[in-house]
Amino acid sequence: MEIKETKPLYQIADLFQQTEEVDQFAIQQAVANILRAIGEDPEREGLARTPERVARMYMELLDGYRQDPLAIVNDALFEETYDEMVLVRDIEFFSLCEHHLLPIMGRAHVAYFPNGRVLGLSKIPRLVDMFAHRLQVQERMTRQIAEFLNELLHPFGVAVVIEGLHLCSTMRGVKKHEARMTTSTMLGAFRKSAATRQEFLDNISRGSVPLF
Ligand code: ZN
Repeated sequence: MEIKETKPLYQIADLFQQTEEVDQFAIQQAVANILRAIGEDPEREGLARTPERVARMYMELLDGYRQDPLAIVNDALFEETYDEMVLVRDIEFFSLCEHHLLPIMGRAHVAYFPNGRVLGLSKIPRLVDMFAHRLQVQERMTRQIAEFLNELLHPFGVAVVIEGLHLCSTMRGVKKHEARMTTSTMLGAFRKSAATRQEFLDNISRGSVPLF
């Protein structure tokens, strides 16, 4: 199916415009500087290749900036009259918080009511990953996933709930109560109808296990 509304989609996936290659050498130098600054010897055996490893790791963990969201979904959009709730729950994700560059790990639950257009189910976790593989705050990531699907599918409604564990809170032993966070974005039918919202929330809480 042809995608016509490309501009808003790219605006939501706003950082895709970053086409320049990651400067791996600059990351390596920066990591070596951090090692020196904390009093370590970046030349010693165990650390000698650490700057290089960290640079490669960031390439992988932050590759969401350079993925084309339309390329991800393009071959998986279908005309379909199915009009019941489509729900993908317990999508595991790993992200990095933009305040500390430490992991946010958790689960995303995504639902929508189709309005003539559906997306192949395997693409929803791919989209979650694309938004997770950036420096994030959980609230923004939740909204980006919901708005992207809303713009792509023009469904009757979209709901996204994310449960995240923030290592910057747990590891540093401050604000422990803020370590686990749940965020949600409800659009269309999920916002307007309490019954629809409740059906979604019942679905994602059924048989759910605590986050970590
Ligand atoms: Zn943080």
